[in-house]
Amino acid sequence: MKTVDLVVPCYNEQEVLAAFFKETDAWVSNIPGYEFRYIFVNDGSRDDTLAQMKALAALHPQVHYISFSRNFGKEAAMYAGLKSSTGDYVIVMDADLQHPPAMIPDMLKGIQEGYDCVAAKRSSRKGESRLRSWFSSQFYRLSNSLSDVKMEKDAVDFRIMSRQMVNAVLELSERQRFSKGIFMWVGFNTKWIPYENVERAMGTTKWSFKSLFRYALDGIMAFSTAPLRMVCGLGIFISAVAFIYICITLIQTLIFGISVPGYVTTLCAVLFLGGIIEFSVGILGEYISRIYMEVKNRPIYIVKETNIHEQQASKPLE
Ligand code: UDP
Ligand code: MG
Repeated sequence: MKTVDLVVPCYNEQEVLAAFFKETDAWVSNIPGYEFRYIFVNDGSRDDTLAQMKALAALHPQVHYISFSRNFGKEAAMYAGLKSSTGDYVIVMDADLQHPPAMIPDMLKGIQEGYDCVAAKRSSRKGESRLRSWFSSQFYRLSNSLSDVKMEKDAVDFRIMSRQMVNAVLELSERQRFSKGIFMWVGFNTKWIPYENVERAMGTTKWSFKSLFRYALDGIMAFSTAPLRMVCGLGIFISAVAFIYICITLIQTLIFGISVPGYVTTLCAVLFLGGIIEFSVGILGEYISRIYMEVKNRPIYIVKETNIHEQQASKPLE
């Protein structure tokens, strides 16, 4: 009998949690040879999500929960779930039923074929605005061209992983987590299963456009130092142009004597260079702020309560 842990990050999911459990359990309880365990992570929900988790846990012994002291974000919730998992395999999936539990048998099939990981990716972006999917594809293009870690386009955080891979993911204990990149970075054989994007069953998405933009920026910065090289290249290029300009001016002065200097040229050069310097400092600042957050070495999450064995849950960070 193999054990599978289902890690489910939940933030204000009171409307959908019971339905999620009902539907998922209907799928997984019929799969022979595997024993499933739920690890619900309450990411500081402000509604009755935790109460619902407790109610489920009281009725079903396979239900476990971890509750954070505040909202730490989905990445932290996933990390906490993975950290507390003990199963031979771990599935991460969303609580809003956008990740169809009907795919779990197929995922297990992939594992039986010998893959270390079977992950879902969207075959369509139905239910998403045009602008949003355009930005998303631009992000993948940019990030894949800048970084050594190639991210799979349209991949979602719905996947099954072997214990070995989960342990590898946990080794990357950085505070600013970008799971899409981390999953690719650790390697291992991954099988991709396409699926039709479904709209959220109930509740609303927690992603605003601004948060998506920041997320994309984090993704690029976490796996690439190309922007720093780019700034360096820009500096060299501008110096070269300036050098040529100085030579030309010098020759002109020697041949034709001193001409009246142009205010416009001076102003343009000052403003242009000022802009470039600000931009470069900004990029440096982004990296430095990340270094700052990492060296503080704060815990990724803080557990307030859980029904998982104390020993496991009280040591979130190693
Ligand atoms: N989530 C979380 N913490 C957060 C935001 C989201 O644990 O701060 C969970 C949420 O409950 C859901 C999953 O992450 O199970 C995906 O969130 P959402 O559906 O809002 O994102 P989308 O599906 O639009 O990418
Ligand atoms: Mg969702």
